[in-house]
Amino acid sequence: MKKEDFLLAAVLLTATCFIPFILIRSLSPYSLADTVQIYSDGQVFGTYSLFEDRTIAVSCDSGSNIVSIAGGKVFVSEADCPGNDCVRCGEISKAGEFIVCIPHRLYILITSGTSGTSENVPDGVTY
Ligand SMILES: [Zn+2]
Repeated sequence: MKKEDFLLAAVLLTATCFIPFILIRSLSPYSLADTVQIYSDGQVFGTYSLFEDRTIAVSCDSGSNIVSIAGGKVFVSEADCPGNDCVRCGEISKAGEFIVCIPHRLYILITSGTSGTSENVPDGVTY
């Protein structure tokens, strides 16, 4: 084994060791959660920052939900749906996590990217 071969092997081995960490960091949406998207009845109801505490009332024909954003977490604090499954979902805080209220056709999703639309979310290469 020549010196160059050894060097090449060392570089490749080192690079190979770091690839999973780079991929996880660049591809994982979990480290970039910053936007709360609320859909009601299949339409975008609103897009909010995960880091601005607020309470949002979402009403539809069949009832209403109170969505709370507090301390970087989102949860349904009140709902008049049968079963209250959306309230019992608890808090979500990571990109990709969601809360669904099926009776009220409410969908709350945490995403990354401040644009609020999935097609404008930057891919891992841009970071
Ligand atoms: Zn519900």
